[in-house]
Order: sequence, then structure tokens, then C-alpha cells
Amino acid sequence: MKSKKNFEVKLEDHFLAGAPAIYIQSAEEARVDQSLVRLQDKLGLKRIHEWNLGHGWVDFENKRPLSNVESGKTELEHALLALLDADLERSLILIKGARPALEHNTLAIARLKQLLNLIERHHAGECSVVLVSEAVCIPASIEAQVTLLSLPLPDRKEIKAMLVQAENNGQLTVPDNLNDLAISGLSGLTASEIGQLLRMVGRQTRTLDKKTLQTILHEKEQIIAKSGVLEMVSVDVELSDIGGLENLKHWLEQRSTIIRRLDEATRQGVKAPKGVLIAGMPGCGKSLTAKVAASLFQLPLLRLDIGSLLGKYVGESEHNMRRALSMAETVSPCILWVDELEKAFVGMGGGNASEVTARLLGYFLTWMQEKTGAVFVIATANDISALPPELLRKGRFDEIFYVGFPNAVEREKILSIHLGKSRQTVAELEMSKLVKLCRDYCGADIENAVNEALANAFINGSALTQQLLEDAIQSTIPLRETLRDQVGKYEELFEKLKLRPASEYQGHSVAQMIKLAADPNHVKREEVASNPDCPDDQLEKLAMDPQRSVIKAVYENPRCPERLLSIRINIPKCSPQYDLELLELACLNGNAPEDLLIRQIDDGTIDSKLRIKLATQAKGVTLQQKLATDSEAAVRRTLSIRKDLNEVLQTTLANDSDQVVRQNLANNRTLSDGAAEQLVEDKHAKVRAALAGNPILSETLLLKLVLDKEVSVGAALISNPSLASSVKSQLLENGASSIKQAFARRAELTESEQLLLLKNADTALKIILTVHQKLSKEVQERLANDPEQSVRVNLANNPGLTKEIQEVLMDGGDYGVRQALLRNPGLLLDKVKLKPKSLIEHVMEHNNNLGLSINSRRR
Ligand code: ATP
Repeated sequence: MKSKKNFEVKLEDHFLAGAPAIYIQSAEEARVDQSLVRLQDKLGLKRIHEWNLGHGWVDFENKRPLSNVESGKTELEHALLALLDADLERSLILIKGARPALEHNTLAIARLKQLLNLIERHHAGECSVVLVSEAVCIPASIEAQVTLLSLPLPDRKEIKAMLVQAENNGQLTVPDNLNDLAISGLSGLTASEIGQLLRMVGRQTRTLDKKTLQTILHEKEQIIAKSGVLEMVSVDVELSDIGGLENLKHWLEQRSTIIRRLDEATRQGVKAPKGVLIAGMPGCGKSLTAKVAASLFQLPLLRLDIGSLLGKYVGESEHNMRRALSMAETVSPCILWVDELEKAFVGMGGGNASEVTARLLGYFLTWMQEKTGAVFVIATANDISALPPELLRKGRFDEIFYVGFPNAVEREKILSIHLGKSRQTVAELEMSKLVKLCRDYCGADIENAVNEALANAFINGSALTQQLLEDAIQSTIPLRETLRDQVGKYEELFEKLKLRPASEYQGHSVAQMIKLAADPNHVKREEVASNPDCPDDQLEKLAMDPQRSVIKAVYENPRCPERLLSIRINIPKCSPQYDLELLELACLNGNAPEDLLIRQIDDGTIDSKLRIKLATQAKGVTLQQKLATDSEAAVRRTLSIRKDLNEVLQTTLANDSDQVVRQNLANNRTLSDGAAEQLVEDKHAKVRAALAGNPILSETLLLKLVLDKEVSVGAALISNPSLASSVKSQLLENGASSIKQAFARRAELTESEQLLLLKNADTALKIILTVHQKLSKEVQERLANDPEQSVRVNLANNPGLTKEIQEVLMDGGDYGVRQALLRNPGLLLDKVKLKPKSLIEHVMEHNNNLGLSINSRRR
């Protein structure tokens, strides 16, 4: 009610102060009438003369055309003539539809001016013309005599009264639990729009429910959109959708704690947050942040398009601004997103541009200062240089953030977010490479590149791959490239204004790097020269630095431009600029062009030492292929241990004349099946042995190696940690005895391994097995019944034997076995039973063993 009271107080003040004309901007004629009636009653005015577009002069009470008006001419210019003789004392002259009536109507304007002059001279403070129209049109000739007022939209109390009236009329009942939501839903609309909406909903249902409440909200979106100054933005993003901008996100999270518990915070003396200005580069997430803030604060988001506020009539821009802001206030609590704020202050053209700008700014700043409703403003701007300094001064907004191009950490996060949205997994994703490739990209560029790669994958009918992503990134011309000068300018300004960076400190901004590149301290220049985010032009400058360490840092920089590297690599030996150390650095830089390196190798410019270094890190396949056939074995040996060689390259190396190259390859954990198949047949046992120990070898190839007669191959197989059980069985059953013996000596042997070993075991192997600590019951039994006495004697020594097996051994009656049992610390039998036999018993036993018996001899 406060705003409306303010309006009526202002109306009265202006009337009494002698304003010849008051322009009320409103489409709500009935509410204007009510306010005028209250003014009439309060000041005891005699009458209100009303004119409207349809009928000319009408009766203010019943709106019927007045019959006493001469002629049928109802147009304003004629109607005004009637007032020349009228009694203007203590009266209001109400002109409705003022804009269409006055627009392009020179005669009406001239006659109105005469009337205003008359009022000014003779009736100041007792008569005013009240012009009413939805849009403002104040002709320049009467501008000085007109005061502009706007009728505020119905506040919560007025809306509540309208709901009560709707219920009393039997139109619509609003349950208590939906009352607040219904009032919020209807806030921001004119009384007639509310009336219409209630009638519409009343036709659908007698009692408001959540579903019909949605209809209200939907209709409201339409009405707000129709107003042309505000748009309700639907939000489907959350905090995790922003990659990076950690400072800004953290700040918003903190504000959300206050905004979500605003009543409690206000009671504790906490001021409601006013808003934030987010300035910075296009496509870097400013709009995204406004939407995320709405979801974080759980508030509706109203977008104010500054461009649409600007009107051609005097006062129209300010009025539109006023209207938008008051609409936002009635919708509050809400977020008002003032998009492209700088538009209000630049490129308005026309002679009065600066005046309008100043007034708009003034109005906006005052509103920001005085606003009481819970409207949180998020203003976004690209060109901060266009914003007036008073807007950037501390205190206007709670904080001003600068959003720059994403740094490497942020680019990775943005890539992950957009790849995550695609719900496709990329096999062997090399994120760090993608991050480097999109150095100059804004968030929108990264999103576009991912979308492009996805579209191409779909068109090809393939899955999303690293290559498709790299191609899409490389075919995108980043914004920073196109706007390089502007970017530099903005970033310098950002430095100068000391705006708070939205991103966490993760390196220098471009502006800082430009500054540091010219620093007299070479350590600082070196730091910039090795920064992967350093712009190309700065690197080119630093490549000519008087300090050698700075130049070296440039050539070592992973983002050193190809142009710079090519120039260095092309310097001939005879040139005074030739520098072996710098040449090496340039050649080893991942950005060095492959074709140039190959040519230099062919020309003999790159010596074997450097070729060895290249072999450790060359990324391009063509260059790797070149190195794979290098005349120096050392180069090929270096290459053969790399884990990232493709199959063609491996096949080349598998055929290498140098045994070490092949051996290295056989050891390589990324060995392809094709190359391994070749190496299985290798004439050198060392190569085959290396292969046999390679845990990635397929079962088929391992089975082939089992048949290898070479002991070292078998030994390597045995020690292969990922030996398949079928291969192991083959090996333990049919392998060379030396290999089986080596295996049998292992501390850990499973039961099946023991049984396999026993299958074709000779005495030596059995003896090795007998001492094993954890022999299975079956193996113990089989060894205890072995015809070889030495086997049984050795077994009898084993402390891990079961009582049952010890009995079997004892019952065997062998003297040596019994003696061994007696010495066994794990003996579970009664020693008395094991007491040595008499000599005769012993001889008999011996004879028995020889297949004789005393009886048979006797016979
Ligand atoms: P403009 O000034 O041109 O309006 P802007 O700074 O408002 O640009 P946004 O519209 O927010 O940029 O960004 C465009 C799109 O780029 C976003 O919808 C989002 O998909 C993507 N994007 C930009 N920055 C980020 C980011 N930091 N994290 C994730 N996505 C981002």
C-alpha cells in the first residue's frame, strides 16, 4: 500500500504546487479514477472533466458521452476548445489515451499548451490537466509544464483484497496454504490483468489448487513478456554446471545463505544483498551464472533487456526503466538480471543521448540505493569501458566480478561438464591435450567444439573420439583470437580497476603477462616465457630477449608457436645465429613441425644424440616411423621401449636387425599381437625369453612358447605373473625338468600345481616336492607310497605330515624311513612304536624290499 500512498501523496503535492499537467503512465484507468476520486474528496474539488478517445467528453461518474458538447467532433483538438469558457476553478481535466491523442497532432498539442498556459497564469494550485496513457508521449513544447508520475502496480495487500473479493463473489476460493503463493504469482501484474486471470482460473475451478496455480504462473510469464521490458527466464542449470569461476561461485553460495533466510538475517541486522555486477569477456559464463544464481537462491529470474527500454520520446526510456524496476519489486523476492548493462550507456544516438543516459543511470543508481524489496540484481556487461565510473564504484553493487577467459584448470572442468552432458564416453581420452588445444577458448567456444564433435560422430555413425574432439577444437576460431586487441584492452582495464577476478588465482591474466614480459627482472620474464597461457605475440617478443634463460624458456614452452620453432630449426649450421642448444630445445618441443624435423634428419642436421632424445618423445607417427628405421641402433632401441607405439611401428621394430631392439619390444607392455607373433619365432632365445615373461601375452602365444626347448624361455614363462592356467598345466606337466624343479621350489604351491608336477615327475622332482611345507593330503599319500625309498625318507622328514601319513610311512617298516620319522619335529606318533627293530627284523625287511622272504629263501 506504501507505494500507492506515495503515488497519491505525490499527485496531491504536484497538484497543490501548481503543476499545470500531470502525466500518469498507466494502463489501469479504473485505478487512476479511484486515486483521482480520493484526491477530489480530500481537496474538495468541484469537478473532474473527463475526455477519452472514443467519445470525447464524458461523464466522469458513468462514462456516458456528454450531450451538451457542440457538434459531433470529439477529437482532442476540438474538445479542448470547449474548455475555453469552462469553469476551471478547483477542477481536474482528465485526458485518457493521451499518447495516441497527442502523437503527431500539432493542433491538439498547441491547444493543450494554450490551456496549460492559462492554468499556469490563473488557476495554479487549483486546476491541473491529468494526462493518462500506458505509454509516455510528452511533446517537447510542453515538456517543461508536465510532471511525470507512474501508478505503481498493485502490492501484496491490494492483491490479497482482490482475492478476498473474488472469493466473496463466488468466483474463486484460495485455500490458506496457497494464499502466499497465489499473491506472489499475481504480483507484478496490473489490477486488470489480475482480474482477468482470476476470472479465467475461476472458469476452470472454484478452488485454487497447485495445478491452476501453475496456470497463473504461466499466464504471468506471458503477461510479463508482453510488457516488452522484462522476461521471465526458466532455469534448468545448477552450480555444478559452471566450470571454474570458483571465487564468484563461492560468493554466490554465501549470499544464498542470507537470501534464503532473509527474514531471520534482517532481524539480526544483516542487510539484504543488493546485487552483483559481472563484467567480462563474451561467452565466459556471465549469463550462465545469472541462471545458476536463480537456482541457488531458489528465486524467479527476471531478465531486463536494457536495449528494449530505450524509447524515442522524452522520458520514455526512464519510464520504461521505472516500470521494469517496479514490476520486479512487485514480483520480489526475485533476481533481476540486467543483461548487457552497458547498452544503456552506449550507442543511443540522437542529441539527447547523454541526458537520457545520465537520467537512466541516476534513476538506476538511486533505485539500487533505496530499494527495499528483496530484488537481487545481477548485472552483466561485456564492455566495462563503456560503463560510467560511478557504476563501478564500490558500494553500488555488493561486489563487482571480472570474468576472464578460462585458465587451464577451468578449461578442463568446462570440457568435462560438456562432455558429461553428452553422456558419451570417449575411449582413451587425453584431456590434457584437449585442454592445451583450447587455450584461447571461452566457455562457449568449448561447448561449441564439443557439440561439433558430437554432431560429426553422429553423421559418421561412430562413437565420440579424441580425434573428433581435437579436429572440432582446431576448426573453431576462438573468440580471443578474433578479439585479441579488445581482450587486451579489457584485461588491462580490469587490472587498473582492480575488479575482483571470478576465477581463483591460477596464473597470470593476459594483462599481467604483458606487463611482466617487459619487466626488468629477467626471472619474471622467464616466468612469463614458460607460462603455457602466454600469448603468442609475447612469446615471439621474449624469443629475442637478451637473457638466454628467457629464450630457452620460450623454446621449452609447450605452447611455443610453430612459426618460432620453424625459424630456429631452419637456421643452418654456417649461420652466426646457429645455436645447438636452442636447436635441440626447438626440435624437442611438441609443436615442432614433423615434416621439417624429418627433412633435417634426412639432411643430417640433427645428430644421433638429438635423434635419441627425439625418439623418447616424438609424438607424430610419421616422425616415429622415420626414427624406427634410423641408422643408429641406439635410436631404435630408445624407441622400442616406448609405450605409445602403434602396431605398424612395432611390426617394423620386430623385424629389426638389432637383437636388443627386438628384446626391448618383446618386453614392452603395450606389445601388439601382430608384433608378438613375429617375436615368438625370433631366432634369439633372449628375445623369446623376454616375450615369455611379458604379462600381456595372449594364451595362444604362451602355449607356443611352452613348447620352446630353451630353458630360459620356460623359466621366464614360469615367472610370468599372469600365466593362464591352461599354459601352466602344460608347462608343469610337460615342461623341461629344470623348469619344473624351479617351480617346485616355490614356497607357495597350490594343490593342483603339486598334482600336476607329480604327474610325470622323476625322483629328483619328487624329492624337491617332499620337503614342501604345505603338501596336500593326496600328494603326501602318493609320495608316502612311492616305491623309491629316498623319496619316502625325505618325506618322513617333513614336519607338515598328517598323522595318517606318518602311520603309512611307519607301517611301511623301512628302517631309514622310521629313523627319519623319529627325527621329524612334527612327529605325531608314539616314539616307542618307532623304536629301532632288531637286526634280524631289519635284514628281513631289507630282503622284503629286494622281493625275497626268509621263507622263500628257505624253500
Ligand atoms: P555474452 O556476454 O556473449 O552473453 P556470457 O558471458 O553471458 O556471454 P554465457 O551465455 O553464459 O556467456 O555462455 C554461453 C554458453 O557457454 C553457456 O550457456 C555455457 O554452455 C557455456 N559456458 C560458458 N562459460 C562456461 C563455464 N564457465 N562453464 C560451463 N559452461 C560455460
